[in-house]
Amino acid sequence: MKFYSTNNRSLTVTFKEAVKSGLASDAGLFMPIEIPQLPEDFFLDIHKLSFNEIAFEAAKHFVEDEIPHDELKNIIDFSFTFDAPLVPLKENINILELFHGPTLAFKDFGARFMANVVSYFGKDEKKEIIILVATSGDTGSAVSNAFYEIPNVKVILLYPSEKVSYIQEKQLTTLGKNISALEVLGSFDDCQKMVKQAFVDEDLKKLFNLSSANSINIARLLPQSFYYFYAFAQLFDKKSPIIFSVPCGNFGDLTGGLIAKKMGLPVYRFVAAINTNDVFLKYIQTGKFEPKPSISTISNAMDVGNPNNFARVLDLYGDDHRKIKNDIYAASFTDEETKSAIRDIFEKYNYIIDPHGAVGYLGLKTFLNKNNLSKFQGVILETAHPAKFIDIVEEAIDKQIEMPGRLKSSLEKEKSSVKISNSFEKLKNYLLTHYTQSLE
Ligand SMILES: *Cc1c(COP(=O)(O)O)cnc(C)c1O
Repeated sequence: MKFYSTNNRSLTVTFKEAVKSGLASDAGLFMPIEIPQLPEDFFLDIHKLSFNEIAFEAAKHFVEDEIPHDELKNIIDFSFTFDAPLVPLKENINILELFHGPTLAFKDFGARFMANVVSYFGKDEKKEIIILVATSGDTGSAVSNAFYEIPNVKVILLYPSEKVSYIQEKQLTTLGKNISALEVLGSFDDCQKMVKQAFVDEDLKKLFNLSSANSINIARLLPQSFYYFYAFAQLFDKKSPIIFSVPCGNFGDLTGGLIAKKMGLPVYRFVAAINTNDVFLKYIQTGKFEPKPSISTISNAMDVGNPNNFARVLDLYGDDHRKIKNDIYAASFTDEETKSAIRDIFEKYNYIIDPHGAVGYLGLKTFLNKNNLSKFQGVILETAHPAKFIDIVEEAIDKQIEMPGRLKSSLEKEKSSVKISNSFEKLKNYLLTHYTQSLE
């Protein structure tokens, strides 16, 4: 399958080129030239398939002959070594737990698939690949964990100093080996801007084999459609229309769902659940998209003022605001509302949810209050394990929570990061002084 740039449909590249470059040369995002329609049989038998079988059926249409089928199956088996169980909260509200991967957030799905695809395509590369990632927390740990010890690949993470949680910072800064962390004295938007500049800098492009692993990379996006199918498979017996509520930041997770729907997955509606960074809600209300600086909240992985997958959402609907509004309901919530939702869910259902999932819960609840639906299944995407945001969650439910073993081990390690100011020149200097030797 070929992929075009959202800025220019006649600029097309192969899957391999799209994965390698991350962003199109005209700074557009890659989209498949055609969204494949999955056959009816697939949906009739889907409940008999494992997650990895579903992933293969969906992925093979995008990859086509660029990766042989048995290699693609291996990539999938290496990537998805954990489950995505659907947990009922009450009769028609379910939680899709996407935090069972190594870094306890849904980003493990995309990051691990991408790492294995990059490693497959990188087998014949001479120059080592340098992955530059701006992270507001979870992306960085998922990506670095996925690429950890992968030969011929180095990862450089940029994260905003003092704007990620203690646990997130530990996950970002304690891996070592081929992973380095830059602590940027600025915001997440600054980090994102610095990385974007690096990709268009002529000197750096000449010297290095730079690659991005942000949610804009198509190899990270595609796997984010797989678990929507898997949720449907787990609800197969209910035979009810599904409403997915997705906690959104850069809108990569939601875009995965929109792609699944275009591939034929029956979805009644998507809820884009957001915190006070509400540019998407404003877009739904007015048809105008006006990026703003991001605001810090307790659902910090969603603190994005200029969601970078917005161009893909527009592209999927041919820029038609009315069609977007028909498929996506948007709602925004404050930190206070989020904290009371964490408490409510614990008191009513004895379920411990993280702040991002709590925003998803509020989004679904608001949608259902406005719409009189007799038969439906609601699915909230729980994007992170509550222990990643232990202070907020423990305060909200007034109870101590257990720390999973895979988090504990990174907490015991020493933080190692390099502080730099929020300017692209500083990043460029860092790359030139630290990475030119490794080119020889
Ligand atoms: C990244 C992230 C989100 C937002 O996902 P997008 O794809 O950027 O919209 C939500 N919750 C958590 C826990 C995240 O890490």
